[in-house]
Amino acid sequence: MPVAPPAPAAAGVAVTARNLTKRYGTGPAAVVALDGVDVEFGAGRFTAIMGSSGSGKSTLLHCLAGLDRPTGGAVRIGGTDIGGLDDRRLTLLRRDRIGFVFQKFNLLPALSAEENILLPLAIAGRRPATEWLRQVVAAVGLADRLRHRPSELSGGQQQRVAVARALITKPWVIFADEPTGNLDSRSSAEVLRLLREAVDTLDQTVIMVTHDPVAAAYADRAVFLADGRLVRDLVGPSPEQVLDVLGHLDDAGASVGQR
Ligand code: ADP
Ligand code: MG
Repeated sequence: MPVAPPAPAAAGVAVTARNLTKRYGTGPAAVVALDGVDVEFGAGRFTAIMGSSGSGKSTLLHCLAGLDRPTGGAVRIGGTDIGGLDDRRLTLLRRDRIGFVFQKFNLLPALSAEENILLPLAIAGRRPATEWLRQVVAAVGLADRLRHRPSELSGGQQQRVAVARALITKPWVIFADEPTGNLDSRSSAEVLRLLREAVDTLDQTVIMVTHDPVAAAYADRAVFLADGRLVRDLVGPSPEQVLDVLGHLDDAGASVGQR
């Protein structure tokens, strides 16, 4: 069954989290990874999720993307309340409507770059729209590498293949978890420019977890987590502003905690 198109009421907002909580384990050993997160992510925007190690960034991304189920609260993607989907429909929504980019590129080693890019469509039994494939391949700058296997590509090239694979379905939203975590600074800049271009010229929505202030400054907005709570929200972040906020996050987390 196809997933419904985005509801008009959700225009302008790609993803919403309401009072999102996530607890791992039970009893005294329980860890509260998300503690009542309320946030909206604009459509056609590039948003960075930041915070120190263990603050809940990956947990938030996984709950937003339907890779993990929250303990409480709700997530809407393109107007669909994903908590209301059974596992099969959630899998279809992830496959057809969401793009993923991970720190480890997660390419299939036996497939060429082009086959990796087309994999989400192949799995769905869909044919690529020729013009979109051309635009995506041009954007990632890999036109002369399409026949190469991942092992014949640099880390930066492999991650650009992964971004192209995320783009190929024209998803409602692309989620990236530390996409530059395994890359040198030059390759990181290429991948970040590509995510920026996906938003600016291909009209995509990107939500990226990073702990790198330089990476966050490519985004239109940076939201900051401390101890599973959203504590700051910066529009048009510069690396300096991000560094400054990161330096004071523990204070912010403590003050929120005292309320
Ligand atoms: P970040 O990505 O910001 O480093 P995470 O979302 O990975 O943070 O983790 C947030 C908190 O939840 C941490 O205290 C972490 O140890 C805990 N946590 C994450 N995943 C699990 C899990 N599968 N089981 C138990 N605790 C977890
Ligand atoms: Mg993480």
